[in-house]
Amino acid sequence: MKGVKKHNLPEKNCATCGHPFVWRKKWEGVWDEVKYCSDRCRMKKPGLPESNSAAKTSRDVVNPATHETSREA
Ligand SMILES: [Zn+2]
Repeated sequence: MKGVKKHNLPEKNCATCGHPFVWRKKWEGVWDEVKYCSDRCRMKKPGLPESNSAAKTSRDVVNPATHETSREA
């Protein structure tokens, strides 16, 4: 295997934009609480209150502006 320059850093998916992001030094210690890839996504909540929701809400958040679902296998 070649071209592996990533370390074994944990990954998550942003709760807002859904993009995967990797562990960062600044998140050391709070990684468990990190849910957004950036402060911007953190501010931009899709309607949900900041409080931790006990129930697992699996909503499909669709952005009307960026509607790019042209994926073909
Ligand atoms: Zn994000």
